[in-house]
Amino acid sequence: MCARSHKQSTNLIASVLTNRCPKCRRGKLFTSGNPYNLKTTLDMPETCPVCGQRFELETGFYFGTGYVSYALSVFYLGLSFIFWWLFIGISATDNSIYWWLGTNSIILVFLQPVLQRLSRSVWIAFFVRYERGNKAVI
Ligand SMILES: [Zn+2]
Repeated sequence: MCARSHKQSTNLIASVLTNRCPKCRRGKLFTSGNPYNLKTTLDMPETCPVCGQRFELETGFYFGTGYVSYALSVFYLGLSFIFWWLFIGISATDNSIYWWLGTNSIILVFLQPVLQRLSRSVWIAFFVRYERGNKAVI
């Protein structure tokens, strides 16, 4: 069982995308699995339930996630612009650019809980190194 659970999610990208602890890549960063439960969307345990890594490294640690969230939003908008341009078309002679802008503004509002969680996951992965074979606290 230990070897099997250790093999799960040892990839950096997979652990960031699934909101896992950057140190053991097994413990969950957030207490609730549903990002759209807005009352608990950013609730995190103080420490990793698997390895004991503290999730708030210092007071105000997650203030920097605004930069990550901005970068992720711009990245998404770039991709959606290219997609819209290739498959729907953007022209200066009609309102297609406004349709793209309005549609993606609405999509970005609904993506915010997911982007906020992903931003925290990326942010903590910058500062905490993965430790292979990390001993479980429990
Ligand atoms: Zn951990």
